[in-house]
Amino acid sequence: MYVRQSDKLANVCYDIRGPVPKRAAELESQGHHILKLHIGNPAPFGFEAPEEILQDIIRNLPVSHGYGDSKGILSARRAVVQHYEGHGFPDLGVEDVYLGNGVSELIVMAMQALLNNGDEVLVPSPDYPLWTAAVSLSGGTPVHYVCDEGADWLPDLDDIASKITDRTKALVIINPNNPTGAVYPPRLLEGLADLARRHGLVVLADEIYDRILYDGAVHTSIAALAPDLFCLTFSGLSKTYRVCGYRSGWMVLSGPRERASSYIEGLDILANMRLCPNVPGQHAIQAALGGHQSIEDLVRPGGRLCEQRDRAWKLLNDIPGVSCVKPLGALYVFPRLDPEVHPITDDVRFALDLLEREKLLIVQGTGFNWARPDHFRLVTLQHADDLEEAIGRLGGFLSTYRQ
Ligand code: PLP
Repeated sequence: MYVRQSDKLANVCYDIRGPVPKRAAELESQGHHILKLHIGNPAPFGFEAPEEILQDIIRNLPVSHGYGDSKGILSARRAVVQHYEGHGFPDLGVEDVYLGNGVSELIVMAMQALLNNGDEVLVPSPDYPLWTAAVSLSGGTPVHYVCDEGADWLPDLDDIASKITDRTKALVIINPNNPTGAVYPPRLLEGLADLARRHGLVVLADEIYDRILYDGAVHTSIAALAPDLFCLTFSGLSKTYRVCGYRSGWMVLSGPRERASSYIEGLDILANMRLCPNVPGQHAIQAALGGHQSIEDLVRPGGRLCEQRDRAWKLLNDIPGVSCVKPLGALYVFPRLDPEVHPITDDVRFALDLLEREKLLIVQGTGFNWARPDHFRLVTLQHADDLEEAIGRLGGFLSTYRQ
């Protein structure tokens, strides 16, 4: 008997943990040391869990062994409500908050509850690929809209407008963006809100990097700016608080929820089916949102994350044929390989060759649903000296590499 995967997975992929990292794991098992710049996981790079979060989890562990409420424990949901009220979300209650095993679980739930086969969802290109994968898994069709590298990677409103059809149900906004690091100004968000308003689209706003901001960039939530729209805002502890292993995120519903009662019932069914999110991780939320925001020390000028971003950005731009827009937020750089200088036709092959020759692990741009094989993503979590080593190896490799 041969067991096949379901047809539902036909267009589902998540290359950040795909064939290239798989090959890296094989090389590691053969004793090679791999420099890993492929995944936004702060822990291996010496980022520790904030002490108050750790202590709160430890303190609550003896009372965390039972199932909790399927939408999440009340104290954490109250803390989320308080947090967003402080950020201009009007009229929120605990019933509007769903906690999840990371934002990842909530993204999949949001799509599963929303989409019928063939429904279209506007997703940025490049994107954090879970969004595209979740749309496909839910029977929907991801329709990619262009983020314009020439305009600091901001979404192109005309391109979005031209792709709206009578099957379009939702608009995904990733702000600050992974992989580009773009932070969207209020004027652009107004334009996005206007499109959603005119075409009756649900807004799905992934704001997991909302406090990882550089150079004085200010984050604006579209839900606060357009309270008349039905929005789902996603964030969590993984990045800002560097505890992605605790799997703790949230989703906040805002705007005219009375016009989405059927959808909300669908979300409740899915929340009930997963019984509840990981309870110890939920206990960290109140401590995190109410405690010292240590991320601010990391992102200010001279802070570790800011320095690493600066170093990576500068070193990449020093490589002939490589250019990189300076990210204003998040934990990544998404450089361009000039096709005149580096005519790469298959960027998975490029990433594999770089891995084999330099023992350096990156993610190819097409893994982020970028249409051309001329970009790649590096994480900027590594210490500056390791970034320098990695980017030095990359530059050496590119100087001779031909496909
Ligand atoms: N959204 C974006 C934009 C991300 O970059 C990530 C993880 O890298 C996630 C969601 C998933 O995060 P979580 O750890 O909360 O599942």
